[in-house]
Amino acid sequence: MMNQTEASFSPWYRQGLRFGCTQCGKCCTGSPGFIWVTEDEMKEMADFLKLGLKDFKRLYVKKVGQRYSLVEKKKENHSCVFYREKKCQVYAARPLQCRAYPFWKENLLSEESWNQAAQECEGIQAEAPLIARETIEELLEAQQKQGPEEHFVSHP
Ligand code: SF4
Ligand code: SF4
Repeated sequence: MMNQTEASFSPWYRQGLRFGCTQCGKCCTGSPGFIWVTEDEMKEMADFLKLGLKDFKRLYVKKVGQRYSLVEKKKENHSCVFYREKKCQVYAARPLQCRAYPFWKENLLSEESWNQAAQECEGIQAEAPLIARETIEELLEAQQKQGPEEHFVSHP
């Protein structure tokens, strides 16, 4: 049994959480929103596409205040510009916001919010692989370091 100190520092997901991406693509399309990218992430994606950073920015991002977001295809159900043929065209170089999903702070607030996220993401299910608490915390830390605490992706 946990003592009180352990309990107060232990998140509700201390035993890990079940998740395995089915690549259904639902988190890449849907309602309007933002897919934030940092300068480093844009460089990585540009390299991946063998493009210069300037061209990458011209073609694939929009400036929102001081930040950049990937462009959406408004007429195609607000899909991310890189969502084509039911696949992410920059999968190996996709930004943290995408890599971390569904392990976003707002989805991890409580078991209830996680269950709600499961309504959007079919990869959250009982038979999926167990993702360790340490991995979840690494993803949370990485997001926190990156800046904005809230995500507004083109879906969920
Ligand atoms: S909604 Fe979930 S299962 Fe579907 S592609 Fe996104 S992360 Fe993967
Ligand atoms: S970058 Fe890739 S994973 Fe992220 S929203 Fe766009 S298509 Fe989906």
